[in-house]
Amino acid sequence: MYKTTIAGSLPKPSWLAEPEKLWAPWRLEGEDLENGKRDASLVWIKEQECAGIDIVTNGEQYREHFVHGFLKSVDGIDWDKMTTMGIRDNRYDADVPTVVGPISRSTKVHSDEVAFTRAHTDQELKFTLPGPMTICDTIADEHYGRRSDMAMAFAEILNEEARELEALGVDLIQFDEPAFNVFTDDVKDWGIETLHRAIENLHCKTAVHICYGYGIQENLDWKDTLGNEWRQYEEIFPALNSSRIQQVSLECANSKVPMSLIGMLNDKQIMVGVIDVASFKAETPEQVAATIQEAGKYVSAEQIFPCTNCGMAPLPRSLAVEKLKALGAGARLAAGNLFA
Ligand code: ZN
Repeated sequence: MYKTTIAGSLPKPSWLAEPEKLWAPWRLEGEDLENGKRDASLVWIKEQECAGIDIVTNGEQYREHFVHGFLKSVDGIDWDKMTTMGIRDNRYDADVPTVVGPISRSTKVHSDEVAFTRAHTDQELKFTLPGPMTICDTIADEHYGRRSDMAMAFAEILNEEARELEALGVDLIQFDEPAFNVFTDDVKDWGIETLHRAIENLHCKTAVHICYGYGIQENLDWKDTLGNEWRQYEEIFPALNSSRIQQVSLECANSKVPMSLIGMLNDKQIMVGVIDVASFKAETPEQVAATIQEAGKYVSAEQIFPCTNCGMAPLPRSLAVEKLKALGAGARLAAGNLFA
């Protein structure tokens, strides 16, 4: 049987935040907002359980954005000093805060939401944090000077946070590193090293998610420039395969990444993306099963964890539910085919 999971994020209900939008502003405030985040995470835990998802998340209902959600509680960052910066190698502009001094983490960031989520599901629980390289590509720097130095500083505080979350019962901590696909030389030079710092002394499972981004127009335009075969993964897989990270989450569904590349990750468990987050049509279970079977040509069935390509935050809520169901049903179908 394949164990299914999702990359991490799910849409916010429209009563909580503006739907179908990244960085969507909250529609509630104060205590109502805190209650709303809890209620929304309960909805998504239930939807994942009903769809037969084995390793669940809280759908990232507590954060406005996957990077800045963590940064909001970090000292040394000036949120009044916003800079418009071309991120992911100038793929798109984002308004980002500025690092103005040594960073530190004076308060817990995600403990309350993890404790709440843990108390409300018996499924295995995954929690996502932004990876050090992706953080450094989503923030302006007026203090460290070198990206690798700033990334190592973030890795240290991510590790403090991760160790607390593990103690609260998280089974798997995943670092999101979409920037790994963009700065492939940096991955080998210092990216893996900072991930190793971030997972130091963790005993739960660890993962890294590397994708081609949400299904937003800027990413679709970028993908159009990448040619008929996307081989970015090929440059970083040898370093990843020899790393101490246990799982790698990849974009595979409807992707121009040659599936054969996953054969380079022999020593890893692979979250194979079988749900396309850029398509506004839910996959059929047969399509999901076909992607799983294609992956099975290159790695063993035990290595495969069917997953979404990326987060589903910007999708319509009902579509995300349909895609969850297709993921669960497709994985069961593929398992049935395997043992038939
Ligand atoms: Zn992603």
